[in-house]
Parts: sequence; C-alpha cells; structure tokens
Amino acid sequence: MNDKTDSSAQEDLGADFKKALDEGWLPIREVARQTGVNAITLRAWERRYGLVVPQRTPKGHRLYSAEHVQRIMAILTWLNRGVAVSQVKPLLDAPQAFTETVENDWQRLHQTLLSAVTSLNERALDDSVNQAIALYPPRTLCEQLLMPLARALSEAADRIVVCRECGNLDTASPCTICADPRRDASLICVVEQVGDLWALERAGVINARYHVLGGTLSPLDGVGPEDLNIARLMERARAGGVTEVLLALNATVEGQTTAHYISAELESAGLTVSRLAHGVPVGGELDYLDEGTLAAAIKSRRPV
Ligand SMILES: [Zn+2]
Repeated sequence: MNDKTDSSAQEDLGADFKKALDEGWLPIREVARQTGVNAITLRAWERRYGLVVPQRTPKGHRLYSAEHVQRIMAILTWLNRGVAVSQVKPLLDAPQAFTETVENDWQRLHQTLLSAVTSLNERALDDSVNQAIALYPPRTLCEQLLMPLARALSEAADRIVVCRECGNLDTASPCTICADPRRDASLICVVEQVGDLWALERAGVINARYHVLGGTLSPLDGVGPEDLNIARLMERARAGGVTEVLLALNATVEGQTTAHYISAELESAGLTVSRLAHGVPVGGELDYLDEGTLAAAIKSRRPV
C-alpha cells in the first residue's frame, strides 16, 4: 500500500523533474541535507531576500545546482560571522563591503526580544522568535541571538527587585511607576499579577498607581489573605491621599471572591471601591457570547 502511494507520488513530480535530477540538478530536500539549512528557511531566503533563487520545472519544483549549494555555504559563513540575513546579499557579490554596521540587524532583534521579555509582551516575543526561526539555521540563531539574550536576561535578573510599595518588579524600589510624580496618587489599581499591570500599561488606559496582589484568595488551595500582598494594600489605602481603589481582577470565581474580600475590608476606610465592567467585549457579537457573560452585561447595564 505504502509502496504504491510512494510510486504514484514520484510520478506526480513529472517527467521534467526526473530528467533534471538525472542531469545532476538537486531537489530541495537534498540541498537541505547537504547544507543543514532546512527547506522552510531556504524558501524564506528565496522569497524575502532573493538570496538563492533555484530553477523551476514547469510544474514548479525547485531545482538547485552545485553553484547554488556553494552560495548557501557562503551565506552560512556570513551568518556565522554575525551578519543578519537581510544584509548578506551585497556581501556575496562584494565581500569587501563588509563593515561592522551590518551587525545592526542582530542588535535590533536582540533589543526587540529583550524589551518584549521585560514588558511581558508574549505576542511580540512569539512573532520575533518565529520570524528568526524561519530565517536562520538553528546553530546561527543560537549563537547570534539566543545565547546573548540569555546572558542579558541573566544579568537583568540579578538586578530585579520587588517594589516595596506596590509589588511590581523593577530594578529599583520604589519602582518607576510608584516614583513617577505624574501618576495620579489618589487612585490605586489592584491587579492579580505583574503581567496584568503590564497589560494595562501597554494599553495606556490608566494613569494610576498599582498594587500587585501576587494571586487570588483560594481556600481550596489553602491561599488566604496573609499569603497575598493585601496587608500592604490596606496600609496604602488608609494612609491618606487615596480616594479610589479600582479592583482590576480577573472575571473568575477566585478573582471575584478576592474582590469581595478586599471591598469588605475597605468599607470603613471611606473611599470609593470600584471594579472593572463585566459584559460584552469591544467588537463582540451577542450571539457568540455565553450565558454568564450575557447575564453580567445585563446586570451591569447603564443609561446611554
Ligand atoms: Zn511600585
């Protein structure tokens, strides 16, 4: 059965392809085997930078010559010297054009990844790493990007401290946000995790100070108020100058239980305790929403 499928697949490649192979042209999988550069990366180099452009059969199969393979090896040499793939092409024709400035692409990618990590921006991290994986062989990627990044992160990790005011992570305590005089000190926005704080910061929708709880109450898991950064929140809320505490907690059972607990504790402090609205997300369509979300949206309705 398998033999049959294989032979019919071979026939599908067409007589032109077979003839070319007999004449010494190489298919992409053989080039990948010889050079260690996988087919996805070879196609990305071709499409995005025109680095290695193979011949095609009438049916579109790629055919590589020995010169193509040599060119790929030359590209690898440049990549291993630290040149970014976007800057290799002129160097293949005129190697004397090489200057230190061609390393800028790696530095830029390094900076992008570092800031994505430090601002906990998973999407940016995902996109940049996926792009780099498609463009570079694993060894080059590891030497030029991942190892230097790991070193930079390890150095940064040594300098990270928890802010004594709000529980944010930064290189100083109080953190940059707590120390910023332009922040509205009368409003404390309470979040579960540092990642939530950064999500709000990226959105740029609130100019308050924050308070990171470090989790939510969960009696089943044995997490009580003393395990969270709640006592410090009470101190800050009662210290004067604060008029509102916004509970920006997740719309989960634990998040809402925690919100109830904190608002009860703050009842006597004489300040406004608010929470995020629950209901229809921006761009959301009603017939796709679950009953819980619809019920919350009806309950939180307001005059227009
Ligand atoms: Zn802080």
